[in-house]
Amino acid sequence: MRRSHHAIAGQRLAKCECGASRMSHRACPECGKYNGNVIIDIVARAKRDARRDKRKQTELRASGQTAETKEKEPAKT
Ligand SMILES: [Zn+2]
Repeated sequence: MRRSHHAIAGQRLAKCECGASRMSHRACPECGKYNGNVIIDIVARAKRDARRDKRKQTELRASGQTAETKEKEPAKT
C-alpha cells in the first residue's frame, strides 16, 4: 500500500549556541561553529561570495546581457 516510507523520520535538528538550528553532526551555517570551535570562516566566505557576484555582474555587462535590464522591462498586460 506504498506505506514503506511512512517510517522515515524527519531531519534531526540541534540548536546551536548562537541560537540557530543546525543539523546534528554538522557545522552551524550561521556562525560556522562545531562543538564550540570555529570551523568555517563565515565572514571570509561572505566576502568571497560578494566578490564572485560582483565579477559575474561585470562579465555579464561586458557581454551585453544584464540581468537588471531584463527585470526592469514592464510586463505587457
Ligand atoms: Zn551557530
